[in-house]
Amino acid sequence: MIPAERHGLAVKDLCPHTTEVVRRLQHAGYEAYIVGGSVRDLILGKVPKDFDVATDATPDEVKVVFPKCLLIGRRFRLAHVRYRGTLVEVATFRGPGRSIAAGHKHADGRILRDNVWGTLEEDAVRRDFTINALFMDPVTGEVRDFVGGFEDLAERRLKLIGDPVTRYREDPVRLLRAARFVAKLGVEPDPATLEPIAELGGLLEDIPPARLFEEVCKLFLTGHAARTLEALQRFRLTRVLFPTLQPGRQPGKADIRPLLRAALLNTDERVEEGKSVTPAFLYAALLWPAVQARHEALMERGEPAYMALQQAAEEVILKQVRRTALPRRFSTVTREIWLMQYRLNRTKGRRAMRILSHPKFRAAYDFLLLRAEEDERLAELAAFWTQAQKERPSTQGEPVKRRPRRRRSRSRKRGGQGRQ
Ligand code: ATP
Ligand code: MG
Repeated sequence: MIPAERHGLAVKDLCPHTTEVVRRLQHAGYEAYIVGGSVRDLILGKVPKDFDVATDATPDEVKVVFPKCLLIGRRFRLAHVRYRGTLVEVATFRGPGRSIAAGHKHADGRILRDNVWGTLEEDAVRRDFTINALFMDPVTGEVRDFVGGFEDLAERRLKLIGDPVTRYREDPVRLLRAARFVAKLGVEPDPATLEPIAELGGLLEDIPPARLFEEVCKLFLTGHAARTLEALQRFRLTRVLFPTLQPGRQPGKADIRPLLRAALLNTDERVEEGKSVTPAFLYAALLWPAVQARHEALMERGEPAYMALQQAAEEVILKQVRRTALPRRFSTVTREIWLMQYRLNRTKGRRAMRILSHPKFRAAYDFLLLRAEEDERLAELAAFWTQAQKERPSTQGEPVKRRPRRRRSRSRKRGGQGRQ
C-alpha cells in the first residue's frame, strides 16, 4: 500500500468522471480501482489516453449499477460505461482459475480465453509488467502494489511479472508491448525480461494478423514511432512483424532506409501537433522498398512499368497482411499512394494537372517529398508539385472542370475518375 504522499499523485489530477464511476461501484458495495496504464502514466507525470477501472463486480453486476453500460468483448468480457461523455472501461478482476486446466491453453502455452474471475491480488499478477499492475483508489488516494511496480517505475525498470519465458509464451504480444513501453516510457527491461525476447520473436507468427495490426497501430501511430522502431530493431523483432522488409545484418533486424526513418519522424511530429495519422501512409512507407525491388524485377522480365508497379503493390501487400493485417479501406489508399507516384512523374499538359484534385493527392505528394529526401534526383519533381499547388490552389480537393465530352463517354464519366 502506497499512501498518497509517497506517490505524489493528486486525486484532483484524476479524471473526475472515472473517479465517479469508481465511487459508485464502491458505494454499491464493490471494490473498485483505477488501474493499468493510466495509473502508471499519471505517476510518470504523463497524460493517460484513457482510464481503466478494475472491480470485483462481475459484468452483470456492473450493469445493475450502470444500467446503460454496454457489455462487450469475447476474449475478455468488459463493461463500457459512458459517464458524462467519458468512456470508462470497467473490467472484472481476473484470476488464473480453472481456465487453463480446463483446456483454454494452447499446446504452445498460449492462453486462448481467460474469463475466470479472481481477486484483486490475482488480477495484479496476471497483468504483464509490474509497472502496469498498480491499482489506485481515487477516493482514498492510495495505490495498491503487489508486485513491486511502484519501485520499478521510480527506477524506470520494465519487468515482467512471474517467469518471463512462461509469460511471453502465454501471450507473445507481450514481446511487442515490451518494445512499446521502452519507446513510449523510456523504461529499460531488466535482464530476465530482456534476454528471452530475441529468441522468442518467432512466436508472433502464430498471433492472428488482426491483433498484430492493432498492435502495429499502437506501436507506430501514437507519437513514438521512431523510438519504437529502434526498440524493435534492438530486440530483433522487426522482421517477424514486417517480413517484407529487407533483412538487416543481424537476424531479426531489418535494413532501414532513410525514407522510413523520415516517415516515422514525420508521423511523430503530426501526432504531436494533433494532426491525423493513418495506417495507409505508414504501410506505404514501410513496404515501399519491397515494392520497388519487386517492381524492378518485374520490369526486367519485360512487364510494362505501370503494370509491373500494380502487380508489385499487390504482391507485397498480400505478403504483409498475412502477418499484420491491413483492413481494405487502408490498403486501397496505400496502393493509391504508390500508383500515384507513377502519375506524378508526368508534369506536362492538362491531364497531368488533374491529379491535383485527386482526393489522395496530398498523401501522394507527401510521399513524394519523403522519396525526395532519399533520392536527390526527385528534388526537382517535388519542387514542381509544390509550385503547382500554389498556382492552382482553387483546385485542391475539388473536381477539375472538364470540357463537356461527346455522348460516348457519358457512362464512363458516371463511373467516376477514381474520386470518392
Ligand atoms: P497504453 O497507455 O498504451 O494504453 P496500457 O498499459 O494501458 O498502455 P492497454 O493495452 O490499454 O495498455 O492495457 C491495459 C492494462 O491491461 C495494462 O496496463 C495491463 O495491466 C493489462 N494488459 C494489457 N495487455 C496485456 C497482456 N497482453 N497481458 C497481460 N496484461 C495485459
Ligand atoms: Mg490503456
